Amino acid sequence: SVPLTFFSGIGGASRLGVLVKGANYLEALARVGIVVFDKTGTLTKGTFEVTAVHPDKIDERQLLHLAAHVERYSNHPIALSLRNAYPDEADGCKVDDVQEMPGLGVHAMVNGETVNVGNEKLMASLGIEVCHCDKCKSGAGTVIHVAIGNRYAGHIVISDRVKDDAALAVARLKQAGVKKTVMLTGDYEQVGAAVARQLGLDEYHAQLMPADKVAQVERLLASKTGHDTLAMVGDGINDAPVLARADLGIAMGAMGSDAAIEAADVVLMDDKPSKIAVGIQVAKRTLRIAR
Ligand code: ADP
Ligand code: MG
Repeated sequence: SVPLTFFSGIGGASRLGVLVKGANYLEALARVGIVVFDKTGTLTKGTFEVTAVHPDKIDERQLLHLAAHVERYSNHPIALSLRNAYPDEADGCKVDDVQEMPGLGVHAMVNGETVNVGNEKLMASLGIEVCHCDKCKSGAGTVIHVAIGNRYAGHIVISDRVKDDAALAVARLKQAGVKKTVMLTGDYEQVGAAVARQLGLDEYHAQLMPADKVAQVERLLASKTGHDTLAMVGDGINDAPVLARADLGIAMGAMGSDAAIEAADVVLMDDKPSKIAVGIQVAKRTLRIAR
């Protein structure tokens, strides 16, 4: 039977914005030794701003226009940002055959023409050579390439910012006894490195496909010692498989996908990563009282 103190622990956590879905998760939360974060929407705001547009033999507006249409149905934060950069929806563009490729980008037919929007990996898979200018390599943002048919059409540089409480979140986890903090991202190496440095994370791994993220979590699970648990924190967009694989899946409640909120063991109602340490502290206190 579950001691009554567990119910008051769950109640206390929920008043602080941490929804714990069961007494067993409170125990797992008290023993977290490794915290693995997804980057976009978890440690960063997930609201990208367009910082540069580099069209290649196409009009700049036309490039933004194509990207926005290809991203019409995607709920990835990048898609939302590209749509915001070109809000002119009512222009009678015909978009069909939309196919989203997790960790890569999106393919669609726009007015009968094949258009691909995504990262360098996606372009490489299509045999399309991308731009390699200094700005692309600077790491100042996430570079999204566009191809029309098998012709390169340029790229859009977008940039995200770390959440206001992300550095605090990492510091608090250390204070709460977490041994290792890790970030996994499908974004470029330079972008991952900059965020990891800024936040003081112990480890980061970039340019990962959803399956690579699972492999990294499995490696970290195998490296755990004693009764430690591994928590994975994400927004559910391209990271639902890792959320499921971790001992404890933690989802963002406000901006996260419905599927992630449903599949997660713990939900952070206000999307603040610093609430993970709050949850750990409540869980530890509850277990001390219960014993
Ligand atoms: P993260 O690990 O940072 O949360 P994802 O795994 O969701 O990122 O995506 C990894 C990369 O795949 C993105 O940085 C982007 O290059 C590309 N990508 C994913 N979805 C899209 C999309 N809808 N449009 C364009 N690019 C995308
Ligand atoms: Mg993600």
